[in-house]
Amino acid sequence: MKWYQKLHWKIIIGMGLGIAYGFLSSALGLNKFTMDWISPWGTIFINMLKLIAVPLVLTSLVVGVASLSDIRKLSRIGGKTIAIYLGTTAIAVSIGLAVVNLFQPGKSMPEEITNRLQASYAANVESSQSGVATVKKAGPLQPIVEMVPQNLFEAAADNRSMLQIVFCAILIGIALIQIEGSRSKQLVNILEIANDVVLVTVDMIMKLAPYGVFALLANTIVSVAGDNPSEAAELLKALGFYCFVVVLGLGLHAFVTFPTMIKLLTPMNLRTFFKGIGPAQLLAFSTSSSGATLPVTMERCENNLGVSEEVSSFVLPLGTTINMDGTALYQAVAACFIAQATGFDLTFGDQLTIIFTAVLASVGTVAVPGAGIVMLLIVLEAIGVPSAGLALVLGVDRILDMIRTTVNVTGDAAVSVIIASGENQLGEPDVDSPEPDFKMKGS
Ligand code: ASP
Repeated sequence: MKWYQKLHWKIIIGMGLGIAYGFLSSALGLNKFTMDWISPWGTIFINMLKLIAVPLVLTSLVVGVASLSDIRKLSRIGGKTIAIYLGTTAIAVSIGLAVVNLFQPGKSMPEEITNRLQASYAANVESSQSGVATVKKAGPLQPIVEMVPQNLFEAAADNRSMLQIVFCAILIGIALIQIEGSRSKQLVNILEIANDVVLVTVDMIMKLAPYGVFALLANTIVSVAGDNPSEAAELLKALGFYCFVVVLGLGLHAFVTFPTMIKLLTPMNLRTFFKGIGPAQLLAFSTSSSGATLPVTMERCENNLGVSEEVSSFVLPLGTTINMDGTALYQAVAACFIAQATGFDLTFGDQLTIIFTAVLASVGTVAVPGAGIVMLLIVLEAIGVPSAGLALVLGVDRILDMIRTTVNVTGDAAVSVIIASGENQLGEPDVDSPEPDFKMKGS
């Protein structure tokens, strides 16, 4: 197979062309054409991925839990997974705090730009505030209450309720363990076939990925640059240092924390890990949604990294909903940046509050584009910084969202490899295998 025929290269080429086209479209005033005729293909592509997320989680998790045949094992894997997820998120926030305190990007923001940004984004801040008001009204146990749906179909009808689906699937799986073997096997067999159908669908959709990411990136560039690319460039220049600090923190977490953990806790080669998870990272970058990326993350972990289905089907859907290292790190940097730019001095206690609230806020962040910035308001409120400061970072949020989503997905995959290795369920990786290991017609 030639290099350019490999999926990840096709996606990279699609991304590059999408970015180039986006700039061209802005410069030539073709934005309306792009919005009307190109962007919808990106939306169709994301919708297709979202379409299979719920069936995938439901079928693979029920089968995964039912095949455990031991509830104690389930609670052991569950406990370990949640502990590692929270631990890595706390490390991510600490890295964020370290870089933002070291470089202090907020101190170098000219006051004139701070005022201008606050004025121009006032309306967007208001709409984010109304979203967060609902979150804040809830009591401390609300996240647990929200995990338990009152209707399976209602939960399945909303991709934002992935945690509810995870809950239902675990419940059904545990019930199946308790039904006599030969009878429960019938349902498990049917779900296994349904799961294969979903995985073949993922493969079909991924054939469209290069075109999907082309449309998505063209759309992103056109919406960021608008009809006035020079204004967007000016904004990027003003916020360039802040973006650099966020990206530096995210880079450290992705290329130091995760690799160190993989090296210490698993036999996996780092090259193998990054090569195996590459297509999922590219997709996370293009879609800014770890939820939409989930089907591909699962496929890559199982078929290319050697994580058993039992582990991946439990660890990854859970991680997509509660484990957002990139988002938490970003929230810490953004909160401190806003505090610095608006003249607030943060005490050591404030920094501890940031660690605590950013970990919790990232757990509560939904795996869709732009969700992290809404939850940022919770962190700002916790340290007493006016939420109007959000206006300072809104303009560059889309770009940073792409990068933090990539880190979120990488974190989920790294933890699935670590858990699989600890449970002796890490098979031989095969990074070049394009085919899932189920039987397709004629194979
Ligand atoms: N877009 C991120 C994700 O889906 C969430 C966020 O906005 O930080 O993982």
